[in-house]
Amino acid sequence: MTRSLFLYNTRSRRKELFKPLTEGHVGMYVCGPTVYGDAHLGHARPAITFDLVFRYLKHLGYKVRYVRNITDVGHLEHDADEGEDKIAKKARLEQLEPMEVAQYYTNRFNRAMDKLNVLPPSIEPHATGHIIEQEELVKEIMKNGYAYESNGSIYFDVVKYNKDHKYGVLSGRNLEDVHDASRELDGVGEKKHQVDFALWKKAQPEHIMRWPSPWSEGFPGWHCECTAMGRKYLGTHFDIHGGGMDLVFPHHECEIAQAVASQGDEMVKYWMHNNMITIAGKKMGKSYNNFITLDQFFQGTHELLEQPYSPMTIRFFILQAHYRSTVDFSNEALQASQKGFERLMDAVAQLERITPQAQGSLTEAYAEEVNEKCATAMDDDFNSPIVISHLFDVTRVINQLADGQATITAAGLEALKKVVHTWVFDILGLKSEAEGGNAAREEAYGQAVDLLLSLRAKAKAQKDWATSDQIRDELARLGFEVKDTKDGATWKLNK
Ligand code: ZN
Repeated sequence: MTRSLFLYNTRSRRKELFKPLTEGHVGMYVCGPTVYGDAHLGHARPAITFDLVFRYLKHLGYKVRYVRNITDVGHLEHDADEGEDKIAKKARLEQLEPMEVAQYYTNRFNRAMDKLNVLPPSIEPHATGHIIEQEELVKEIMKNGYAYESNGSIYFDVVKYNKDHKYGVLSGRNLEDVHDASRELDGVGEKKHQVDFALWKKAQPEHIMRWPSPWSEGFPGWHCECTAMGRKYLGTHFDIHGGGMDLVFPHHECEIAQAVASQGDEMVKYWMHNNMITIAGKKMGKSYNNFITLDQFFQGTHELLEQPYSPMTIRFFILQAHYRSTVDFSNEALQASQKGFERLMDAVAQLERITPQAQGSLTEAYAEEVNEKCATAMDDDFNSPIVISHLFDVTRVINQLADGQATITAAGLEALKKVVHTWVFDILGLKSEAEGGNAAREEAYGQAVDLLLSLRAKAKAQKDWATSDQIRDELARLGFEVKDTKDGATWKLNK
């Protein structure tokens, strides 16, 4: 933790030196998916961006509590206070219980994240599991005079809040801009001002997702969940709150207002936002109907795709751009990422086959230099494209070593392997996809060992001790430790 990490804070609009509120610990909250459909490329970006942040903070030695929620209630169709709940609508159309829809897409989301090698967060709370906490938040805001009841629904009084505090500190919008931007919608009649937003909505008779509250049977407003769950798991003040740039307004702006209106000050020290993925210059998203799901990418089953793209190609493609730049989808760009990723992984594999020289020209100093360059790039607001360009320089050196155009000492080689593995696998979170992926290969290896052990059991039954011992000894030589038990034999691989 001796390094100086700078990160861009959307709140202050500049890069700031990262100083956690509690020495050695980081609390990070990231807005997770609304689970009513398959994850698409637009979901992969925040997941991979904050996975990179999570991995790097851990690499620096911080103990990180990473909370990423599942939105399973309250996200209405128009991202405003009107329209049907996105999950309830899906449930109605497919004649399912809303929680069946949420569970189904949560499972699929997590499977896609596994494929992308996105580490699971420390806590994955569901909005529906925190209705009481959200009601408590609404009560505090009401007690402080920044919310009012109307027809059983509770609205945040943005105009009153703006008089005492300032609304728009995150997005830079002032109230007049917001007034102009908000459209006339059915039901705004309940609100005092069009800019007010719902904290609690009374459920219409046909609305199936509903909970009791002091005000009405209903459901919480979308913005409440992150304020309530962030505070529950990370405390009244925590370090990082992240999400896609499209959440800055209104979602995160409203979260700040809710925090100040309830506890008197802001909860979050650093706000981080990843930029969008565009497709022909337009944001990719469900609401734009131009999205390609992750499974479609993996299988190549979308009319815009010329071929399938593996999870690691997608991950590499996203990491090749700085998280605050836009990324435009195209087949050419993805094919270039695929080639780049393969080149990098080939070099990592080749590193294992290099023979060191006693008088090698490269030493541990080279590995240290690579490590320092990569760390310097990451300390500058998680600049993964620069890290990747340094790693490409290393691949050229590895190729020279393999061709005998350069030499390296044994200690230098060990240090270089360690640095390359740390950056490629641990921090960038890449993994080899050769031969159908590691998992499939390991499964096959395991089955082969089981087969050998069954042959050994047969040999033992026939009192063929020579064959039985030979199988055990040869497996031991390969690193497999065989233990005889009364039911047969077990094995493990000692690495
Ligand atoms: Zn959120």
